[in-house]
Amino acid sequence: MQCLCCGYFTLSNRRHFEICDVCFWEDDGVSEPSEESGPNHMTLEKGRLNFSKFGACEEEFVKNVVKNPENIYRKGDL
Ligand SMILES: [Zn+2]
Repeated sequence: MQCLCCGYFTLSNRRHFEICDVCFWEDDGVSEPSEESGPNHMTLEKGRLNFSKFGACEEEFVKNVVKNPENIYRKGDL
């Protein structure tokens, strides 16, 4: 399943609170960009912006995410 924050297909299920390997977004099922995501403490829109800036949904998580995700996961459009 596709992570709605980074666009990579990292999840085995949607809405199972899995943490994405690529961006560290926790998939609580939020799909509306302007909606606040409780477990992520931000909107999806903000997570996407952070991912494009830092390479993780929050700058502090950069150390937790995989490097060169394009070698591991397929990426799709969001
Ligand atoms: Zn992700």
